[in-house]
Amino acid sequence: AKSSPNQTFCFFEKGMDEAVARRARTERKLREAIDADEIEPYFQPLIELSTGRVLGYEALARWEGRDGRVKQPDEFIAIAEESGMIGELYFRLLAKAAKEASTWEGDCVLSINLSPLQFSDPWLVERTLQTLQQAGLPPARLEIEITESALVSEVETARAIISSFKNQGILVSLDDFGTGYSSLRHLSEFAFDKLKIDRSFITNIDTNENSQTIVRAVTSMAHHLGLKVTVEGVETEANAQSVRDYGCDFAQGFLYGRPEPARSVDCEESQAKSD
Ligand code: C2E
Ligand code: CA
Ligand code: CA
Ligand code: CA
Repeated sequence: AKSSPNQTFCFFEKGMDEAVARRARTERKLREAIDADEIEPYFQPLIELSTGRVLGYEALARWEGRDGRVKQPDEFIAIAEESGMIGELYFRLLAKAAKEASTWEGDCVLSINLSPLQFSDPWLVERTLQTLQQAGLPPARLEIEITESALVSEVETARAIISSFKNQGILVSLDDFGTGYSSLRHLSEFAFDKLKIDRSFITNIDTNENSQTIVRAVTSMAHHLGLKVTVEGVETEANAQSVRDYGCDFAQGFLYGRPEPARSVDCEESQAKSD
C-alpha cells in the first residue's frame, strides 16, 4: 500500500494504542506477580577487601515469571515506580530477604535498595522495623542503599528518614556514587555510613587513569569524612588489586559472586572457604 500522510498517522496511532495496551498488560502482570509473591530476592556477596571475608549480601529483585523466565530489575523496577507499586515491592522483598538473613550466622548484613519515591511514604521507617521484627532480623543487620537522586528533591524529608533509620541502628549507604546527581554536599549533610562508588568507575580502572584518580580521591575524601567505601563491579583479580591499593574497604562484583537465588549463606563458612 502506498503511504499517504493520513495512513502514516493511522499507523502511528495504532502503534501508540499497542504500546499503551502492552504497558497496561505489563503493569497488570507485575501487580499480580507482587501479590502472588513472585518477586524474589537474589543475593550477591559483599566482601571486606583486607580479609576477603564475606560481610553481607545485597538483595537484588528478580521477577520469576510463570513462564520460567527470570526478569531483571531493568524490566520492572521503573514500571513499579511509575505505577505506585514500588513500596509494596520493597516491603515484600524485604520480608523475604530478612527472613533468609535471619538464618545467617555471625553478624552478616543484609543490604536492600530503596527507591527515591519511597521517601514520600510516612510509614517507611516504621513498616521497615515491623518487617524486620516479624522476620527476626535485628535492625543493626540491615543496610539501606539510597541513590543520590533521592536527596535532591526532598532534602528535609530525606534527612529526617535517614536519621530515623540510623537512630534505629540501621546502616545507610549512598548508592551509585559518581553518577547523575552527585553533590559533595550530600556526603557531609547526610549521616551516611558508607558510600558505594558506581560500577562505571571500576569497569575501566585497570587502564583509565582518570578512573584511578577519582576512585583514589573519593576514597580518601570519604575516609576523612568518616565513611566506609564499597566499590561495585569488581570482575577481575586486577580490579580487586587496584581498589585494594586505593584503600577501598569493601567490594562487590562477579569476581566474588553473582546475584543468586535464596539459599542459606553463612558468613563464617564463607570466610573459611575463601581462606
Ligand atoms: P545497583 O543497586 O547498583 O546493584 C548492582 C547491580 O550491578 C546489580 O544489577 C548487579 O547484578 C550488578 N553487578 C554486580 N556486580 C557486577 C559486576 O561485577 N559486573 C557487572 N557488569 N555487573 C555487576 P541488577 O541486579 O540488574 O540491578 C540493577 C539495578 O536495579 C540495581 O543497581 C538497583 O538500582 C536496581 N534494583 C535492583 N533491585 C531493586 C529493588 O529491590 N528495589 C529498587 N528500588 N531497585 C532495585
Ligand atoms: Ca544497590
Ligand atoms: Ca550501581
Ligand atoms: Ca558457621
